[in-house]
This record gives sequence, structure tokens and C-alpha cells, in this order.
Amino acid sequence: MRVFVPCEAFPSETRVALIPESVQKLTSLGLSVEVERGAGLDSYFLDTAYEKAGALIVTDRSEALSQADVVVRVRKPSLEEVSQLKRGALHISFLDPFNESELIDAFAKTGVTAISMEMIPRTTLAQKMDALSSQANLAGYFAVVKGAERLNRILPMMMTPAGTIAPSRVFVIGVGVAGLQAIATAKRMGARVEAFDTRPVVEEQVKSLGAKFVKIDLGDTGQTDQGYAKELTAEQIQKQQDGMAKICAQSDIVVTTAKLFGRPAPKIVTSEMVTGMKFGSVIVDLAVEGGGNVVGSKLDEEVQIENGPRIIGTGALEGRVAVHASQMYSSNIYNFIEHFWDAESSRIGLNLEDEILSGCVITNDGSTVHEQFK
Ligand code: NAD
Repeated sequence: MRVFVPCEAFPSETRVALIPESVQKLTSLGLSVEVERGAGLDSYFLDTAYEKAGALIVTDRSEALSQADVVVRVRKPSLEEVSQLKRGALHISFLDPFNESELIDAFAKTGVTAISMEMIPRTTLAQKMDALSSQANLAGYFAVVKGAERLNRILPMMMTPAGTIAPSRVFVIGVGVAGLQAIATAKRMGARVEAFDTRPVVEEQVKSLGAKFVKIDLGDTGQTDQGYAKELTAEQIQKQQDGMAKICAQSDIVVTTAKLFGRPAPKIVTSEMVTGMKFGSVIVDLAVEGGGNVVGSKLDEEVQIENGPRIIGTGALEGRVAVHASQMYSSNIYNFIEHFWDAESSRIGLNLEDEILSGCVITNDGSTVHEQFK
């Protein structure tokens, strides 16, 4: 089977779908790998490293796309590139399927099996392929690093002959994968950390990282069977905002990570909460690509509020640590292929009844097969 790694087309994308180490592992399994010239450059992997790992460097992107059995990339392809794929090919990438019905139709029409990385089930079995988690973990880390860099003070407490500096206060809103890593990073950097989530079950996790869980009584909230947060009522949102305004006003860095899977991000930090924050404080909105958790955050911009905080809206923060983000994503892709690799036929076995495949295969054999997108 022929695997092709094209250069990412999205302008600010720095990651690459396969790094040389995974190329070597795939070639050992028996697949051949083609990499478009320069595909790894933005994540610091040279063509020569890919060649050494056994890949063929190609320059004719259209030809490689039309001949590949498996195309792997980070971001979704353009409609035009879907039409170039060969019938029966496998396409593995993030697809943003809830907002891309036209793209899904195009995959179906071309007879391509489209795998959506964000739809890999969040189960123990599929953990090694879970790219949402591997990338959110790095985004959570970098949100704190970025916030600390833009802050006008230090994070840890310092006792010096010149006086004592109190630790900065970090408030993390949303304690999923990114939020937990943000808490851990801020703690490691010496900050005093508080966190809030609508799912009460995370309180223990917050405490185990040495942070304080902010308790706001919202009545019945809970989570879905999949572990995602349920949408709040208007009254619950108001209660939450009142409770959080005080914490925001005391904080030096606020990191928001609350996404609602497949839906626009909830607006949690209101303009009153923003203007109530200290001059020189920082908000990092990790949900900015889904519309943002913070009123006033703008994608890929830093907004300075007069006499207030600066709001950082950099999208896909994991891309700022591209070496490790690519390494983790590449591992997720390799693990996916390896898991379904059938050595006897030297093919990737696609049993759509499989619990992982039934979650993430969107189109197959000319039609949309995923229940949620049919
Ligand atoms: P996410 O990115 O969808 O959301 C981040 C966090 O924001 C979540 O904890 C959510 O509860 C919270 N949130 C949503 N609305 C909020 C609001 N209005 N105010 C405050 N917080 C709000 O979450 P995620 O990181 O993708 O994780 C989702 C769930 O999946 C978690 O329970 C996580 O533990 C679970 N998970 C399980 C596995 C596994 O079992 N293999 C892997 C990854 C994640």
C-alpha cells in the first residue's frame, strides 16, 4: 500500500502528519511512503531525514494524490483535492465533519473512505490514536507558557533580600485534557492555580494536581455518556458567570478551554468579566477557533483591553510546539494504521462494525456511512 503525506495547505499550519520515525515503522510493516518535498520543514523535519527513514520524496502533488492508497494529513483537504483521490483510497485527517457537509459529500462521491481524527472514540482501546487528546494536551501546556510570556510579572513566589514576590494567580476554566495540562503546567511554574468545570467529577483531578476547584452551585449539570459536558440553561450560565467574575478579577492569567464537541464554544467570560480584570493581566482563549469562550477574543489576534487584560486568541496553539505536536499526531496515525493492518493481505482491514471504525469512518464505498452525518 502506498501512503502519501502532502504538505499542509492551511497557511498557518506548522505540523506534519507523519514524522520520519513513524515513516520507518510504516515501511517496516510493509507500506511504502511518499512525502511531498518540504512537508516536514515547518516542524523541523528535513527531506533527508524522511529519505533516511525509507520515504520517497515527491514533487508532483497531484500525481501522488491520485495514486495513493492512503493519504494522511493534519487538516482537512480542499474539495478540489478530494476529487483527485483514487476510488477506494483511505483519507485520514481532521475533517471538522460537523461543519463540512459539502466535503463529506465530495468524499462519498469520489468513493474514498474518509476517517475523521476528531471522531476517534474517546475509549481506552482507542487512546493511542486519540489526536484530540494528544493535541489538546500540548495546547494546554503552551497556553500557560504563552500567557506567562505575555504577563507583566513572574509566576512563582520569590523570597529575596529585596523583598517577597507573591505567586501569580492562574484560573483555568474547563478541565478536560487541555485544562488539566494547563493546571499542571501553571503549578510547575509556581503559580497559585484555581480551576472550574461544569462537570463536578473533575474536582478530584483538580485537587490531585494541587490546584483549588472553584465551587459554583449550578444545580444539575453532569455529562453525556461520552464524558462531554452538557449544554447549560440560561439560568445556570448566569450563576456561573456571577461566581467566576470574582475569581477572574483576582487572576493574573485566565485560560479558557471549554469546547462543546461539534457545537460552537460557549461564551463564558463576559465583557463585564473582561473589563473587571486587572490592567496587565492576560486571558488565553483556547476555544477561539470554535467561536471562543471569551467575549472579544479574535482568532490569531491579541486584543488589548484599555486599562484591562490582553486577550490572546492564537488558534491551534499546539502548532507552536510543532515538533512534539507532529510527533504525537504522527504516533496517533501510525497506531491507527498498525491497529488495523492485516499482515496476511498487506492491507488495512476495514470492518465497519469495529467499535473504533464505526466511530470515525465518515464515508465508504460511495456513500456517507456514519450515523451522525448520513
Ligand atoms: P472539551 O475540549 O470538549 O472541553 C473542555 C472542558 O470544558 C471539558 O471538561 C468540559 O466539561 C468543560 N466545559 C464545557 N462547557 C463548560 C462551561 N460552560 N464552563 C466550564 N467548563 C465547561 O473536553 P475534552 O478535553 O475533549 O474531554 C472531554 C471528556 O472526554 C472528558 O471527560 C475527558 O476526560 C474525556 N476523555 C476521555 C478519554 C478516554 O477515555 N480515552 C480521552 C480523552 C478525553
